[in-house]
Amino acid sequence: MIDQNALFIDGALTSSHASEYIEVRSAATEEVIGRAPAADAEDVDAAVSAARRAFDDPQGWSTWSADERAITIERFADELETRTERLTGLVSSQNGMPISIAGMLESGLPTTVYRYYADLIRSTQLEETRPGLLGGRAIVRQRPVGVVAAIVPWNYPNLVTALKVAPALAAGCTVVLKPSPETILDSYVFADAVAAANIPAGVINIVPGHASTGSYLVSHPDVNKVTFTGSTAVGRQIGKACGELLRPVTLELGGKSAAIILDDADLAANIEGLFQAALLNNGQTCVLNGRILVPRKRFDESRDFFAALVDSAIVGDPLDPGTQVGPLVTDAHRSRVEAHIARAKAAGAHLVTGGGRPVELDRGWYVQPTLFTDVEPSSSLAQEEVFGPVLALMPYDDVDQAVQIANDTMYGLAGTIWTADETRGIQIAERIESGTVGVNYYMLDPVAPFGGTKASGLGRELGPEGLAACMQTHTTYLSTT
Ligand code: NAD
Repeated sequence: MIDQNALFIDGALTSSHASEYIEVRSAATEEVIGRAPAADAEDVDAAVSAARRAFDDPQGWSTWSADERAITIERFADELETRTERLTGLVSSQNGMPISIAGMLESGLPTTVYRYYADLIRSTQLEETRPGLLGGRAIVRQRPVGVVAAIVPWNYPNLVTALKVAPALAAGCTVVLKPSPETILDSYVFADAVAAANIPAGVINIVPGHASTGSYLVSHPDVNKVTFTGSTAVGRQIGKACGELLRPVTLELGGKSAAIILDDADLAANIEGLFQAALLNNGQTCVLNGRILVPRKRFDESRDFFAALVDSAIVGDPLDPGTQVGPLVTDAHRSRVEAHIARAKAAGAHLVTGGGRPVELDRGWYVQPTLFTDVEPSSSLAQEEVFGPVLALMPYDDVDQAVQIANDTMYGLAGTIWTADETRGIQIAERIESGTVGVNYYMLDPVAPFGGTKASGLGRELGPEGLAACMQTHTTYLSTT
């Protein structure tokens, strides 16, 4: 049992003003495993003013050389790495992520992202002088945008935090991070790594809390930029608030991506990649391919293949290294996923396998991996994000129709193409209306921008693009003399 009564603000755990506590339960045992204060407005004020002071300090973080910041970020990555077991164990207990993938996705990839931005800031030219066209010159500087409010979801708490905090730190920004109430316990391990790495006081501050904490933070007058990952519904509210304030905002939102299986694809040879595309993190993944589009002439074979894939998934305790599908994050979230299953049945979809709770697991918020066929492209199962292990297998007659079905949603986050011919796969990938697509492979990489189109978001994280989103240009005009 973890019992926290303080918040990480201004470089140390400080007593919270809040009277309300957030209780976190294990997704597998349903037992309370920890609690921490829900930061209230006064706590957020304290966190933002610490971040403001740290940013405005004339000798502070934002004025350090790129190399000084990079060394500190690398030290932080090392400190995070030494806490891998604790961090990933807590994430898996809280949100049900199988521990077999948590090591890579909640520790290995985040630390790679910090190290990538440490390298990138060292090699990025932050100032140049351009000869003008009208007789003058211009010095163009990249300056840190200021205090960044980073609001993250529960499904990949450390990875999503890294996508926001790493470029912000590299740019010279200071940060107020708001973890999701479902996954607050690991944020104290993160705070411990911040302190151990000697990141200066106020550069990173953490305010666990509910929606009210987040919305207060978004509109705080001393925040200069907001970066949010979460649902499209909340993203719209945050986008609206930032629009009113004319405040820069990055939004990474929901998805309803499709896997297109081409007529030449070898399903068996790609079983591992297809499993991850369809069921990664128990389906609680924004880039999940919840729709699987298969050539009509390969429909029966594909149905049997995916039914076997879903049935063979080892469902169980997320802390067991053999588990492939763990429980869902909360009882309330399981109810939402079950409501999606009920609606799909009511709409006439055919349940091939799954659809219920695993009988042998009487504790934990489990849902059987589930496969539907006869799913109408306009039905809710084909259009709405389920965020659970529920798949819709849909036939297409030709590639044009496959592309049309794939693009026929309000979202545009990800997708995959499976084929024996990579060149053909790339050509089809270019027709998908989304921020990212994979051909026979899909994995976020620090070097390449990630983000969505349409209702999946605004802006990009990762790559030099993610660094640019934490900077603002400043121009000084000079005469030639
Ligand atoms: P959510 O939108 O409910 O919450 C996300 C975060 O926002 C949480 O910290 C929450 O407390 C906070 N929040 C809620 N209401 C708020 C408000 N009005 N103002 C400010 N903050 C508020 O999402 P969730 O259920 O935690 O996460 C699942 C969603 O996140 C899914 O839709 C998923 O697709 C999306 N997601 C997207 C990406 C991406 O990169 N595109 C990555 C991971 C998750």
